[in-house]
Amino acid sequence: MEITAVSATNVSTESWGEFVEFPLVTVMSEYEEYNNAEGDNPQARRKWMGPVGDVVVEVETDAGITGVGHGNWATGAIATIVDETLSKLIVGEDPHERETLWDVMYRATIPFGRKGAAVEAISAVDLALWDIAGKAANKPVYELLGGPVREEIPCYASNLHPVDHETLEQEAIDYVEQGFDAMKMRFQYGPSAGRSGMKKNEEIVATVRDAVGHDIKLAADAYMGWNVRYAKKMLDRLEKYDLEWVEEPVIPDDIEGYADVRASTDIPISGGEHEFTRWGHKELLERGAVDILQPDVHRCGGLTELRRIDAMASAHDVPVIPHSGTNPHLHFIAASTNAPMAEYFPIPEWYKEQREGKDSTYADAIYQHPPSAEDGVIGLPEGEGLSAELNREALDHFAVE
Ligand SMILES: [Mg+2]
Repeated sequence: MEITAVSATNVSTESWGEFVEFPLVTVMSEYEEYNNAEGDNPQARRKWMGPVGDVVVEVETDAGITGVGHGNWATGAIATIVDETLSKLIVGEDPHERETLWDVMYRATIPFGRKGAAVEAISAVDLALWDIAGKAANKPVYELLGGPVREEIPCYASNLHPVDHETLEQEAIDYVEQGFDAMKMRFQYGPSAGRSGMKKNEEIVATVRDAVGHDIKLAADAYMGWNVRYAKKMLDRLEKYDLEWVEEPVIPDDIEGYADVRASTDIPISGGEHEFTRWGHKELLERGAVDILQPDVHRCGGLTELRRIDAMASAHDVPVIPHSGTNPHLHFIAASTNAPMAEYFPIPEWYKEQREGKDSTYADAIYQHPPSAEDGVIGLPEGEGLSAELNREALDHFAVE
């Protein structure tokens, strides 16, 4: 089989439905212009994220099989790297030779890559190659990976934005009633909000913990919005709430800070969704930065690289709970004994009316079979390849130049 063409299509965040603009702390919150802690600056995230949210990469072959891969953010850059560099390296090659093709793409992009958009572009192409392999074998990719290791995939409800206490409490109770035994909330404040922000961060954790009781796994996400000193103080206040993990307390490059924070608390620390390649994740593991690793297959180098990262994590006795629950992640989890669950983004009941009855978030519109949870689990992904059948009409509708 031979690769004949590669193309990349940028997709607007409009495809996500309403862009999520709930209040929360982010890596940008220390700048007032980008701070939406109180919910009074709803455009805060739009100013630095979007308007282009996704890129779809299609790899065509002379066998009539087309593989589909997917990337997020910096999508103009990803599309350009795919068009101008990666396509030249892989057209004419055998799509089954993923190991060589990965290495060739990685080495060729080192002058401007190693992390960021170039590795995201490699990730999308690599996923398309796995999709081709599955389609050519008439098998789901999790079977090619040696799975399934489980019959269904446990997932955690990932939303719980700090809108107000009553709404938050009801949302958490809704998830328990829907069968989720794990969920993740978001912190609202970072260092600039001082001690009163710390108190409010603690109060929302207390609210959710009280609402769901201690049998439910509860994690919380700081989205890189803190620093080491703040994280230590905040985690000290949170010890008593029995959190499953606290996510991305500091920026990804502060690996020493991660390790310092982790050593100061009994609360498990997670990170890795903004890390790239096996070399980046190796640092997190070897320097004792995390209890749980959260690579994103669309960022870290695709499935080829995620398997290597997972093997390393497993040797460090660190579970992998990937960032975001897209179909490629579900295939990976279905085939890894070291990946206990998936992230899943339900739409809160109180927000559904504004979302026109959609029952999940995130790039769903452009795919035929978006992940769907029931009773807190997702079934094994359906179909051949990476379950990446495009909704062509929606893709055309949301495509941007
Ligand atoms: Mg996260």
